This record gives sequence, structure tokens and C-alpha cells, in this order.
Amino acid sequence: MNTNCDVTIIGAGLAGLQCARLLAQQGVNVILVDRKNTLDQKIHTTGIFVRRTLVDFDIPDDCLGPPIRHVTLYSPALRPLELVSNHDEFRVGRMGQLYQRYLQQCLHAGVRWLPNTSYLGHSNGGSDKKGRLTIELSSSSQTQSISTRYLIAADGARSRTARDLQLDQNSEWIVGVEVVLKGALLEGPPRLLCFLDPQLAPGYIAWIAHDGEETHLGVGGYAAQFDPISELERFRARVGNLIDLTKAKQIERRAGYIPVGGVLRNIANANGLLIGDAAGAVSPLTAGGLDPCMRLSAFAAKVVAEYLSTGDPELLNAYSGNLFRSRFASRLWARRLASAVRQPQLVELGCAMMRLPLFKRLAGHVFFGRGSFPDVETNNALCGSPHCAVAVAGPQFSGKTKS
Ligand SMILES: Cc1cc2nc3c(=O)[nH]c(=O)nc-3n(C[C@H](O)[C@H](O)[C@H](O)COP(=O)(O)OP(=O)(O)OC[C@H]3O[C@@H](n4cnc5c(N)ncnc54)[C@H](O)[C@@H]3O)c2cc1C
Repeated sequence: MNTNCDVTIIGAGLAGLQCARLLAQQGVNVILVDRKNTLDQKIHTTGIFVRRTLVDFDIPDDCLGPPIRHVTLYSPALRPLELVSNHDEFRVGRMGQLYQRYLQQCLHAGVRWLPNTSYLGHSNGGSDKKGRLTIELSSSSQTQSISTRYLIAADGARSRTARDLQLDQNSEWIVGVEVVLKGALLEGPPRLLCFLDPQLAPGYIAWIAHDGEETHLGVGGYAAQFDPISELERFRARVGNLIDLTKAKQIERRAGYIPVGGVLRNIANANGLLIGDAAGAVSPLTAGGLDPCMRLSAFAAKVVAEYLSTGDPELLNAYSGNLFRSRFASRLWARRLASAVRQPQLVELGCAMMRLPLFKRLAGHVFFGRGSFPDVETNNALCGSPHCAVAVAGPQFSGKTKS
């Protein structure tokens, strides 16, 4: 294999795949690396896509479950609050299938794919390879180096690549663990059930996402404050009277870290940039990261393609976490509140207040709102470079991307 390329992307989660295929579709020579052997293993997301993502991006329909419009919010004492939207708000991705589909699109666009390969580190290429990086990789059979002009970190919440690029790193996480079941029975339409309970899920929620075909049952919270595995078992036992799990068959278990400190500030330099969880691009309030994966990666692909074709480092100024962070302020405050409230009685009171029309509207806004991640095109005015073609709001930023 030719070991030279324009861009090396570490990590073939949603962020890496989206960025790789968009770069390759613009003619950039990309190598995509993941330590996984196949992408339908070791998945660590529930895969709930929100309406905004479904509208703005062409996620293949056969990689999505049936639409969900109903949310039931439970207090610690299991008092329900029903929220219903007039729109299809959520769809649960069949993530293994979706990753494989996007990988096919990457390959079709010319991306070179290195599965079962771990990123070890990188260095500047030396005087004979000015401006290039040497990436050290290892697979079960060999270690190898590749020479690249630019490195993209899409290796998740605890990104080693971000550290090596001397860019910002996540420092606040929650952990999530869930089981995926088939054959669970729940009366009524497909539904998202969310459980606010600081003992079961300190700082976050426990959830059941049931779309009629698959059921995801999970808990999330601050790792220091609970034992996710035993809380998941307790949760499963506790919801037996809300959903019939007697004939349900477990098909998968998923778990992972979710960065909730907001998008990082310093996410690009002349050697590389961060996307997805590596960039902290997750809503601190809802912990949704799939929309930011699609949106920020599309923007990154545009910026990197322009940077490589012009060599103008000023173009990278448009790709700054500082420009997005202001949009996260209210969610970061809500996150601080969520992490501070540990008494079930207080949460019970909060849930009772949510029955009041104003607060119910607010809850509806959190679940059905359209602001999970800023529209990156608003940054464009801030890019002062004469080469700033990224200043033209192209359809790839927030409009449909071809799939
Ligand atoms: C339990 C759970 C449930 C969630 N549910 C939702 C949800 O329903 N909706 C939503 O919007 N968000 C959800 N999130 C958040 C969302 O899943 C993430 O924000 C998103 O998947 C991040 O994608 P990514 O591509 O940045 O990273 P990842 O999907 O983590 O991909 C990183 C990739 O990098 C690879 N990698 C890591 N290190 C190396 C290395 N050294 N060498 C080579 N490869 C490497 C990994 O194998 C992996 O494939 C959830 C998160 C968790 C943990």
C-alpha cells in the first residue's frame, strides 16, 4: 500500500466516517484508520437521531428504526409526564448497518481503509519531508508508518490523537451503559421513556427507547457517583411493570464515555484538528453527540479541503471551539445544575413543577427543540482569510449531504 496521503483520520465512528467520505468526495486523498476489525462491533451509542439531523442530512432510511413522537418523563417515584410532538422527532439508528453503509460510501469515494489498526503516535516528518507528519500505526501483524499532510482526530471522548496534537482534551464525562433487546412489549406507539432519578442515574437519566422493533434500556451518570452495571440491573428489574420484558432477548450490550463539558476551545492547528467526541462536540444537557458528529465533521471537511488546496493556515481560524461555545452557555448551566442535584425529593419537586404549562413547554423544548448543536455556517463571517471559500455557506454545512 502507498503510505502517503493528504489526510489521515483516526477513528471510524460517525464523525470519522462523515469527514472521510466528504473529504474524499472533494478529491482529497484520505486514509481512515480504526482499531476495530469491523464497524458493527463494540458500538457505544444508543443511536437516537433527532429531527434536525434527519432533516439536514440524508441518513439512509433502511438504517433507521420507525419514527418516535412520544416521550414519557418519569419522576423518581415513577410519576409520568407525557410529551407528544406533532412531528416525527426521533429515530433510532441501526448503527452497525449505518457505519458499514458510510464505510462503503467512503471506499467508493476512494478512501483507503485500515481496519484492525491502532494509532500509536505521530511526529513531524523531518527536514526531507517538510510539512508532513509521520503517523505510527500498529495492527496484530505489523507496525507501520504513514506520511500525511494533515491528521484528524475522530478517536472518541478520550482521544489520544488530541493529546498528541497538543489540542484541548475532554475533562468531564458521564458514562452510559445499555442493553439492546428484541421482543420487548410496550402498548401504544413507539416511545422514549426517560427516568429522572439521581440515584439510578446521577447527573443524567435512565432511558428506554422503544421503536416497536428494538428496545434500548440504559442508565447514564457520573462514574464517581454510581455503579452503572448494577444500576442497570436494578433499573431493568424496576421497569417490569411499565414494559413487558419477559420474552425479550438481549442482542447487544453497549457502553461508553460521553463528554459533557461542551465543545473544546482549541480544536485545530496546522498539524491537525478534532471532530466528534474528540472535540467535545456533545450537548452538555442531552448528551446527544450524533448531530454534532454530522455537522461539525462536514464543516471540518470543508475547512481542511480548502486549507490543503491553498496552504493558508488562516483558514483554520474558522474552525475554533471558541466560536461555538457561546451557544452552549445555557446548556452548560443546566449541566451544572443536573450534576449538583443529588436528592430524589428535589427532583420529584422539579418533576411536579414540570406539570405547570410554562415548565412543560420548557421540557418540550429540551426534547423537541432544534438547537442541539450550533449551525457552523454562522462562523463563516469570522473567517478573515482572503482564501476563505469556507465563508460561503455551502449546502454541506447544514443542508443535505449526499449519501
Ligand atoms: C451509551 C451511549 C449512548 C449514547 N446515545 C446517544 C444517542 O442516542 N444520541 C446521540 O445523539 N448521542 C448519543 N451518544 C453520544 C454519541 O454516541 C457520540 O457522541 C458519538 O457516537 C461520537 O462519535 P465519534 O465518531 O466522535 O466517536 P466514536 O463513535 O467513539 O468513534 C471513535 C472511533 O475511534 C476508534 N479509536 C479510538 N482510539 C483509537 C486508536 N488509538 N486507534 C484507532 N482507532 C481508535 C474507536 O474504535 C471508534 O471506532 C451516546 C453515547 C453513549 C456512550
